[in-house]
Amino acid sequence: MMMRINEIIEAVQEYNSEADVALIMKAYVFSAQVHAGQVRRSGEPYLSHPLSVAALMAEMHLDVASICAALLHDAVEDSNATVEDVIRLLGKDVAELVDGVTKITKIHASSRALVQAESLRKMILAMARDIRVLLLKLADRLHNMRTLGFMPEDRQKNIAQETLDIYAPMANRLGIRRWQVELEDLSFYYLDQGNYKKVKDKVASSRAEREEFVNMVKGLLAEAMAKYGIRCRISGRPKHFYSIYLKTLRNNLDVDDLYDLLAFRVIVPELKDCYEALGVVHSLWRPIPGRFRDYIGMPKSNMYQSLHASVLGPLGQRMEVQIRTEEMHMIAEEGIAAHWQYKEKISGNRQEGQRFAWLRQLIEDSQKETVDASEFMRSLRMDLYPEEIFVFTPQGEVKELPKGSTPIDFAYSVHSQVGHNTVGAKVNGRIVPLRHELNTGDQVEIITNPQAKPNKDWLKMVVSGRARSRISAFVREDERGKSYHLGREILDREMRKHSLSLNGVTKDGRLNAVLEEFNFKDLDQLSAAVAYAKISPRMVVARLLPKDEEKNEETPKDLAPPGSGKARGSGAIKVRGVEDVLTRFARCCTPLPGEAITGFITRGRGISVHRSDCPILLGVEHERLLEVQWDDSVPTLRPVKLQMEVANYAGVFADIAQALKTKSVNIEKISTNKVSSGITVVSLVLDIKDSEQLKHVLADMRNIKGVVSASRASL
Ligand code: MN
Repeated sequence: MMMRINEIIEAVQEYNSEADVALIMKAYVFSAQVHAGQVRRSGEPYLSHPLSVAALMAEMHLDVASICAALLHDAVEDSNATVEDVIRLLGKDVAELVDGVTKITKIHASSRALVQAESLRKMILAMARDIRVLLLKLADRLHNMRTLGFMPEDRQKNIAQETLDIYAPMANRLGIRRWQVELEDLSFYYLDQGNYKKVKDKVASSRAEREEFVNMVKGLLAEAMAKYGIRCRISGRPKHFYSIYLKTLRNNLDVDDLYDLLAFRVIVPELKDCYEALGVVHSLWRPIPGRFRDYIGMPKSNMYQSLHASVLGPLGQRMEVQIRTEEMHMIAEEGIAAHWQYKEKISGNRQEGQRFAWLRQLIEDSQKETVDASEFMRSLRMDLYPEEIFVFTPQGEVKELPKGSTPIDFAYSVHSQVGHNTVGAKVNGRIVPLRHELNTGDQVEIITNPQAKPNKDWLKMVVSGRARSRISAFVREDERGKSYHLGREILDREMRKHSLSLNGVTKDGRLNAVLEEFNFKDLDQLSAAVAYAKISPRMVVARLLPKDEEKNEETPKDLAPPGSGKARGSGAIKVRGVEDVLTRFARCCTPLPGEAITGFITRGRGISVHRSDCPILLGVEHERLLEVQWDDSVPTLRPVKLQMEVANYAGVFADIAQALKTKSVNIEKISTNKVSSGITVVSLVLDIKDSEQLKHVLADMRNIKGVVSASRASL
């Protein structure tokens, strides 16, 4: 539907009763003349485009010159008309605006980064003359994005990318949220239809549930506000698609939590009401500590003002409520454009110059001729994207990363394999630790080793979604691999007791029947189930044996050696990432809670848990070692053997027993061995809670008169 000039004039007159309608008509007639016969790709007359841009300018309550310039913004570029024609017909003000927009034309350069730098530089220069030029350019882009569907596909992607890189951040910096949101969602749609649809479907499918929740929250808020006599308007609606998408990327989540999609807003008449309303919100729901933001006291650089209260909502979920006045709301939605609308009302204490300090700085920078394009862009981008950093590869390629990124983030942004094989990094030629935080402008070089593998601790050092997801995928895969390996060994070991082998039963097809019976897809799945102790190896082997042999089967001793603790899922041990695994405690070093431990994948007997300093581990192949931890939630008693040299003196045993009794330590076993006249070696097996208790017990023993020495021994 083509916009009509009458509608635009009416819209302008609504906010500007003294508007020079004749001038607008003149601009319209001139535009109609120069674009006569031209057709948009949509099939509409070309004139529909300048009319739509003019309507957008009117929506933002811009002045008559801006409306005229909008009507003529493509006239000089796309027809025979000249700037002089425009000056003659409509005056210098309009002509300068038209000229400003015309000068921000597309340029062709070798790299995307250079094109961006150049067009940004031009825009900034244009703004130096008149900020209305930028608003005009944004409106022009917005309408082109709305009609982008008529463009060929490759052009769609380029234009959408440019919009996301330059125009949407510009709209954000100017505080025109309404345009920013639309530009981002349209770009998102054309750049990544798959994810766009995913987000859209999610928002649509959760509608009923969401509306119910929104109504409940709105109801509770309205009731509470009324009770305190605060007049307000309350809204609750989904955030825009692109911001939901970014959130899922940042948190590496699927769009699952519907509360995350929502933004609640309370709009009140006056400033003092904001803080009162905040009090009401905090009395309704518990605030999340450290999450409150006061952008009223400290406005954002794009003039945005609001209170952001983060609370645990009625269902105990995290929820954000934004509180602001009508005026703040207007500025939040329309930013710089609201300036014209609130010209009189905006309090005079904040000078326009201060508000646009960032803009003035940009303009000054852009006028320094000595600054080269990429240097300028670096400083500009820092300002446009406060959450991003820009670093360089050794070849000078720019990589965009979230603020706080480390060399590991960088490595994964180059290539997953580079990330996986990272062993070190140089920043600006100097070796840095992998946790080093990168800054915009850094040149980063990654040192790799093809044998190197990602480490779970890296997850604590990265901030980019890409690095995070690649590392966790690797770690998961690695652990799964280890559990297959473990499961196979357990199975094979069990089979060999019956003169079978895993290889043999796989080859002769007998294993297939078992897989089918237990409903496993393949051997990997079965091995994993065995490793995770979901199915016992004996059950599997039993299916491979004739019936009578199965009955004679005895519990193999080595599955649960006496005194070595409960073998299966002892409960006290957590194997990282793997649950319910077959674990046993090594007898050589008898680890105790509180001591560092390491798992060792044995051949066929699950994971044996040693003290990390146990010398046995030194002789073990690295692949068989596994990270394990004590599970503090499971109280456990471990047998520990003490060996004591005792002077043969009556009563010493009673003292030992007494000392242990006061510490409530149970004696499991005691034996004595007289080694020489006067000295007896006493061996005790005690049930000990943790390393701390053992320390106390040893100290107590050494304090007993007659005890020459006391130390820990292998079981
Ligand atoms: Mn245009």
